[in-house]
Amino acid sequence: MAQEARATAAKEFDAVIVGAGFAGMYMLHRLRSQGLSVRVFEAGEGVGGTWYWNRYPGARCDVESLEYQYGFSDEIQRGWTWTERYAAQPEILRYQNYVADKLDLRRDIQFETRVTAAAYDERDALWSIETDRGDKVRARFCIMATGCLSAARVPNFEGLDQFEGDWYHTGDWPHEGVDFTGKRVGVIGTGSSGVQSIPLIAEQADQLYVFQRTANFTLPAGNRPLTEQDVQKSKASLLEDRAKARTTAGGIICFEYNERPAEEMTFEERERELSARWNMGGFAFLGSFADLMATHEANDHAANFARSRMSEIIKNPAVVDLLLPNDHPVGVKRLCLDTHYLETFNLPHVELVDVRSAPLKKITAKGIVSGDKEYEVDCIVFATGFDAMTGALLSIDIAGKGGEKLRDKWAAGPRTYLGLGSAGFPNLFFITGPGSPSVLSNMIVSIEQHVDWISDCVKRLTTGNIRSIEAKAEAENLWVDHVNETAAATLYPQANSWYMGANIPGKPRIFMPYAGGVGAYGEKLAEVANADYEGFALGA
Ligand code: FAD
Ligand code: NAP
Repeated sequence: MAQEARATAAKEFDAVIVGAGFAGMYMLHRLRSQGLSVRVFEAGEGVGGTWYWNRYPGARCDVESLEYQYGFSDEIQRGWTWTERYAAQPEILRYQNYVADKLDLRRDIQFETRVTAAAYDERDALWSIETDRGDKVRARFCIMATGCLSAARVPNFEGLDQFEGDWYHTGDWPHEGVDFTGKRVGVIGTGSSGVQSIPLIAEQADQLYVFQRTANFTLPAGNRPLTEQDVQKSKASLLEDRAKARTTAGGIICFEYNERPAEEMTFEERERELSARWNMGGFAFLGSFADLMATHEANDHAANFARSRMSEIIKNPAVVDLLLPNDHPVGVKRLCLDTHYLETFNLPHVELVDVRSAPLKKITAKGIVSGDKEYEVDCIVFATGFDAMTGALLSIDIAGKGGEKLRDKWAAGPRTYLGLGSAGFPNLFFITGPGSPSVLSNMIVSIEQHVDWISDCVKRLTTGNIRSIEAKAEAENLWVDHVNETAAATLYPQANSWYMGANIPGKPRIFMPYAGGVGAYGEKLAEVANADYEGFALGA
């Protein structure tokens, strides 16, 4: 309390954190535990981030709940019991509120407040932060927990303002929910949000048009209620499991990657592996061969297998070819987990509209025009995704040393050292920033990895009377090259994905996350910290 009074009076904090999702919440806890005064600014009315905003029907995690939870506190995990293999959005949001209560986080979070600008004052080594509510505060450290998938994007369709019905974006869903009963609905987009919401919208709607530009690979989710045994086993070993997860490529341990490349396996061995993993449900399929994401031969085998299994579900011959992805390797666009998605297209009131061959031209007062045809609808659902990884960061006017803008520095693509900081921007940290494994991993593991590293770094600075830390340009350049080389050794760059910025017109085409894996990346983080933050300049 005394700490808060001091901070409020001075409008100066040791640290400002932007965002109160999983990342901002844990960051607040860690810094406060070190005795720092901290203010969190959050645009939403509550904690949760992704799970606060994405309330569309069917929203649930696709990393298994027993792994998609914090792993830093045995007490927290023991006090919470997950009910499904993949928890639905309301359950995840309840969990986040449970954590916020348990750690008494809300007293340092200012909700309904969007940070608009952050500028570094070199003389005092302080960040000045401004919000849309008129706040002006100063802080030694500015930590961006703004999320990789938090800047929801509605494409700039001509005529949307004329539409007489209601429209929604999956990433900014009304809190009271939407009743589609008796309605004609158009869903635009068939990424994970579309794949999750379409079956549930179809259950209510009278008529559903799904506007698909790119068919995606979908894997069976295999969702089910968790048994008492699942839960108890997880509670007994979560901390150990989490330590193990940090050494893996994807930050998960519910399946292991096959260490054999496809080229060393017979056709029958490959099929057995693919089949077993397909039947497990979830992302296990991706671990079928060691080289699945690296060689066309391995990937083609897996892709053909997936298409064949997918086609068994689709009964309508008119849509089977459209629903089967054929323009990118499997896994290079984020895979979607399917719970009744493909079979939804067997329903008579569901129509798939191929907007690749008949592009979406405009929205009218009555509906959506694809090619020369107008589809009359009462509601439109935009499942059109996000300005991923850089969108939320660059919507803040961030100015570093000499007034350099982060937007200008990143105009040709994000440049970071380790995804954690950027040269010219001292004491500014990104949690799961571009250039870190982030979206290629179980994000809570990656978030904890970053928060732990940043907390230790801040402790080193505060206890050592060091005023600033800044990525060195040479270290950053080497890291950016390494991130690019690592991506180039995979098939990832071969698709128009949001990983590449390809969903945003005009955005530079750069593979933004680090594809080297959580384990290898964690070793690098430790090495850097152990060498007293090698690659960073520490300023007295
Ligand atoms: P977020 O949860 O995105 O939180 C960022 C917060 O920052 C938001 O609340 C936002 O309002 C706030 N913010 C941003 N800019 C500002 C600003 N300028 N001022 C104030 N506040 C600001 N990952 C997985 O690993 N497994 C999954 O199963 C999974 N499922 C997902 C499902 C959906 C529907 C989506 C969209 C993403 C999913 N993800 C999943 C990724 C997910 O984003 C992360 O797992 C995780 O929730 C990110 O937490 P975060 O705190 O980093 O960011
Ligand atoms: P997304 O993967 O980017 O999908 C957006 C969809 O909209 C794509 O099908 C895209 O087509 C289409 N689209 C975009 N602009 C369009 C336009 N102008 N015209 C026609 N179609 C257009 O977004 P998302 O589904 O919201 O998912 C984003 C990420 O969030 C996921 O990849 C995942 O990481 C996370 N997520 C996870 C879950 C989960 O299962 N736990 C659920 C939702 C989201 P193109 O492919 O052709 O660009």
